[in-house]
Amino acid sequence: AAKKSGKNAFLAFDSQMFLMSKNRLELERDIRRGVENSEFVVYYQTQFSAKSNALVGVEALLRWMPPDGSVIGPSEFIPVAESTGLIVDLGRWVLFQACTHARSWADQGLGHIRVSVNVSARQLRDPGLLKDVIRTLAETGLPPSLLELELTESLLMDDVEQAIVFMRAAQEHGIQISIDDFGTGFSSLAYLQKFPLNRLKIDRSFITRLPGSGDTIVTAIIGLAHSFGLEVVAEGVETESQLEWLQIAGCDIIQGYLLGRPVSEEQVRQVLAKRSGLKISRFFRQEV
Ligand code: C2E
Ligand code: MG
Ligand code: MG
Ligand code: MG
Repeated sequence: AAKKSGKNAFLAFDSQMFLMSKNRLELERDIRRGVENSEFVVYYQTQFSAKSNALVGVEALLRWMPPDGSVIGPSEFIPVAESTGLIVDLGRWVLFQACTHARSWADQGLGHIRVSVNVSARQLRDPGLLKDVIRTLAETGLPPSLLELELTESLLMDDVEQAIVFMRAAQEHGIQISIDDFGTGFSSLAYLQKFPLNRLKIDRSFITRLPGSGDTIVTAIIGLAHSFGLEVVAEGVETESQLEWLQIAGCDIIQGYLLGRPVSEEQVRQVLAKRSGLKISRFFRQEV
């Protein structure tokens, strides 16, 4: 960051130093205050069908925007929020925001867009999680099939039995489930068959190596997912050649900077409003 010029680079650098200089207690207090002062914002990143080019979903990604104008990414505060348990309240709030927004897009005729919400280990251990989710769906009126919960592979492996119980119950309510960062967590094939799932999200570290050294693994994951009846999402797609490779390989859904960075709810609404006739690839980027 220090090498970059411009005001934003310095802001990012400062806020990072600021966070690093704090002990956990101070950071915890700041997060709490941030929550009270409404400094947290849910951003959304679009997901497109690799086949029809339609916009099929968005992933909710949390941002912290303190009054100094900086934007702090989740990797800088989620670990503390996790270990202090603050993630339970914060996660509940993200879920409510995401469901409220998705419902309002549908109400405004902008489409039935699925919203994916990340769930961390501490949240999954909370026995009230499923009840919270179901209550939030009822309160916001979002159809359960438009909500997807993203669980990371390593999180599922922490406590496989509990994860399966949660996933079964969630799916019985019509909620969708995906495994995030797939390929990094050493889950066995047997578990893939056991887990009630809708899709696998291939970890960005493999997508980065397409076309090339990632080919074998990504081909294998797509084949594996399809043989279990699951859809495949590629995350972190940044180049035209990655996109083309994935389309030919039969990947189902594409997410990445190439097609859109995480943006505010207002910006998502603008994309949705314009979306009819939009195509991913060159076409899409010309129009947006
Ligand atoms: P994730 O769920 O794997 O989300 C994907 C991350 O990759 C996001 O980072 C996204 O901005 C980034 N990304 C997307 N496309 C590209 C691309 O083309 N290139 C590159 N280099 N990056 C791309 P972000 O927003 O910083 O989030 C990081 C992680 O923080 C997420 O990883 C997720 O595990 C966690 N997280 C984010 N929001 C929440 C939340 O509301 N609750 C919980 N529990 N965790 C969250
Ligand atoms: Mg995710
Ligand atoms: Mg991921
Ligand atoms: Mg990740």
